[in-house]
Amino acid sequence: MAEKYLEKIRNIGMIAHIDAGKTTVTERILYYTKKIHKIGEVHEGTATMDYLPEEQERGITITSAATVCRWKDKTINIIDTPGHVDFTIEVERSLRVLDGAVGIFCGVGGVEPQSETVWRQSDHYKVPKIAFVNKMDRIGADFFKVVEELKEKLNANPLVLQIPEGQGEEFKGVIDILRDKLLIFDPDTKGEVIQEFELNEAQKKEARKWREKLIEQLADLNEKILEKFLAEEEISIKEIKEAIREATISLKGVPVFLGAALKNIGIQPLLDGICDYLPSPLDVAQIQGIDPRTKEKKVFPISSKAPFSALVFKTTFETGRLLSWIRIYSGKIKAGESVYNSTQDKMQRVARIFTLHADKKERLDEAKSGQIVAVAGLKDARTGDTLCSKEDPILLERISAYRPVISMAIEPRNSQEENKLLDALSKMLQEDPTLAMERDEDTEQIILSGMGELHLEVVLERLRRYFNVDFRAGKPQVVYRETITKKASAYDEFNKELGDNLHYGFVSLEVEPIGEDKDNVITFVVNTEGWPPQWIDSIYQSIKDGLQSGVLKGYPMQGVKVAVQSLGEIKENSSEIGYHMAASSALKKALEKAGPILLEPIMNLEITVPEEFVGEVVSLIGMKGGKIENMFDRGGGKIIKAFAPLSKLFGFSTDLRSATQGRGNFIMKFERFGTC
Ligand code: GDP
Ligand code: MG
Repeated sequence: MAEKYLEKIRNIGMIAHIDAGKTTVTERILYYTKKIHKIGEVHEGTATMDYLPEEQERGITITSAATVCRWKDKTINIIDTPGHVDFTIEVERSLRVLDGAVGIFCGVGGVEPQSETVWRQSDHYKVPKIAFVNKMDRIGADFFKVVEELKEKLNANPLVLQIPEGQGEEFKGVIDILRDKLLIFDPDTKGEVIQEFELNEAQKKEARKWREKLIEQLADLNEKILEKFLAEEEISIKEIKEAIREATISLKGVPVFLGAALKNIGIQPLLDGICDYLPSPLDVAQIQGIDPRTKEKKVFPISSKAPFSALVFKTTFETGRLLSWIRIYSGKIKAGESVYNSTQDKMQRVARIFTLHADKKERLDEAKSGQIVAVAGLKDARTGDTLCSKEDPILLERISAYRPVISMAIEPRNSQEENKLLDALSKMLQEDPTLAMERDEDTEQIILSGMGELHLEVVLERLRRYFNVDFRAGKPQVVYRETITKKASAYDEFNKELGDNLHYGFVSLEVEPIGEDKDNVITFVVNTEGWPPQWIDSIYQSIKDGLQSGVLKGYPMQGVKVAVQSLGEIKENSSEIGYHMAASSALKKALEKAGPILLEPIMNLEITVPEEFVGEVVSLIGMKGGKIENMFDRGGGKIIKAFAPLSKLFGFSTDLRSATQGRGNFIMKFERFGTC
């Protein structure tokens, strides 16, 4: 039996182009749900959800990854979603843990390219959505144009539930076409008091027109509505709402609301819409993962009585303390308990549990299935880790396996700056699993690597602005991999004095290419029975380490199978070290003979462009050494899917912009290391 409390939870995110009004809308939501007692305004620098400058200066991130509020009998967790899309994990990780989203659009600007990208990504994650057309008070606002754009640009099926009474300067209120009422939001009470008016004849006619359209749309999607529609029977509001909910959750429709957040118009009906139409944790499929011991598929029901499972979707530092943000899928945890981090194979203690509202915390004794909470005390937990119980472990799908493809050398100005830099980086590395750092052994430089140019730019910006570090940065460089192209074998006999002892070892092995993008495989063909297991481990480790730096330029190797064929005979001076060294040299010799080549990051491009620029984009891709994989129509334009080597894609956004007079738009994702 499904638990009742779960039906009452909404875990939602906001998808919006920068400036569409996400902060302003959120601020009203918090106000009407009594989370805050005074509305802060963005333009006055007082919005609750925005950073405070002094915090930025002190270098502490206090953005909450989720804020909780209550509306009627529902609990709404608002998960912070960034407005921009780059290679960073930000968007993806929030999409992974939310159940539904509100797309906020500007009544004048409509569907802007940035929101288009995030919207499409959320479609990919099958996130049900509703739309809110904001800024209806601005001159030039056109609700119906935005509805058309939802269809054309986002391929959505907009279910219009409200129409505006006046637009732009004339905007007065919201007409609810289901209930046939005009809603006026009393400015003297900051919109808290809503007056309802009967519709006049003209308004009634308009409302009826839109309601009929809505019912036709629903009849297309819903048997029950279709039957009644054909029989010309009365369809109750309850039935319509149920059909809207079904359509929304099955991603077949997007309910559309409208208002002007700054004027406190239209927020409460939007809150009702979130509760009425967006899914509860129960509406989302069961949680799937694998058993980390057997690697077999495992499924837990969404229930607080099931075994515990949760995903760490973000880590933040707050006054020096690490907070892990988790979405609990099943079971429950209590403060003070230990949980099993199945990703890292470690027990970790949950010292405290919190829900957060902007910078204010509320401590909880326990948290359960469906909830999103912050946990203090999980040492070393990273984004994407699964938490569960040791007795009944599960490993949830990781937030995509990202591989760094761009690196950059950075040099602090002096040793004091270096300490600051390392300190800041250690925090950022923990927050962002797509960021990596290493030291160049020759130059002593710090090398940062990440998901792309933009990603590293954002990282550098944060180091400068939030952490106040002074450093020089080199040019971004592509990160390569290495592989081999043919079979080869080699052996090495090690016989040397190290320290005071003589060490002996013999290893012969064969290397073989198994496909550019395959993981390496190490096997022992030789019978290792009777050999000390730690020697075998040491040989294995030596080969594994050896594959980490290729023979061409020292990049990690992939797609290599190594078969250890012979270990010779045990002699008087045979030792673990001797075999370790022999394995390492034999591997090197074999790899050098095996036709090593460099593999470069090949990126997957999805370009959206108006029809008339297709020719320009096709030739641009050709110039970049790319290959077009697929092309199809969407709305008024075309989507072009292509692969291209990252080394040629520096500055691609500028190139695309100039080739398309700014009308082209793209998402770039790492595809594989390979040759194009
Ligand atoms: P965000 O970037 O999506 O978080 O957008 P903000 O909430 O920061 O809003 C961007 C700007 O638009 C701010 O100056 C707001 O005051 C303004 N704004 C937000 N909502 C409305 C609205 O309904 N009408 C008008 N005229 N301005 C608005
Ligand atoms: Mg904002």
